[in-house]
Amino acid sequence: MKRTTIDKLCCPFDKADLKIKIIAQDLDDNIHEGVLTCDECNRYYPIINGIPIMNPDEYREPQLEKAALTQQSAEQYLKPPKVH
Ligand SMILES: [Zn+2]
Repeated sequence: MKRTTIDKLCCPFDKADLKIKIIAQDLDDNIHEGVLTCDECNRYYPIINGIPIMNPDEYREPQLEKAALTQQSAEQYLKPPKVH
C-alpha cells in the first residue's frame, strides 16, 4: 500500500489522524509492514502484507497480528533490487 494512501486513513472509531511506523517498504514507497497508531484512543492497526488491518475490536486477533508482524522479515524488502 502506498504511503500517500495510508496518509489519508483515519481511525475508524474517532476519525483521528493516524501515525505510521514503517517496518518494511520497497523502493516505490509501497509499505509492506508497519503499524498505524491513533493518539486519541491508543488503538493500533498493523499493516500486514501491505493491507492495513482495521477491524472492529470484536474481530481483532491480537495474537495473530503480532505473529504476522514478527515472522515477516524486513530484510526481504530492504534488499537492493535485482538488476534484470
Ligand atoms: Zn482512535
